[in-house]
Amino acid sequence: MIKERKPFRGNPRRTCPQCGAAFTCDLAAGKKDCWCTAFPPLMPLDENAKECLCPECLKKAIKEKQ
Ligand SMILES: [Zn+2]
Repeated sequence: MIKERKPFRGNPRRTCPQCGAAFTCDLAAGKKDCWCTAFPPLMPLDENAKECLCPECLKKAIKEKQ
């Protein structure tokens, strides 16, 4: 039986709360950086952040803020 290491922030698979697209959180997957760190800080990216947006919705949200 394979023992799975538990990712430190749970399941890396995310579902976008806005459009329902599936994407992966690299931080939750145990990587040092996530693709979202390449974007300007828009969302609350602290430890208490519950929902991440998918790359497409994050791009749109950033455009709308400018
Ligand atoms: Zn989305």
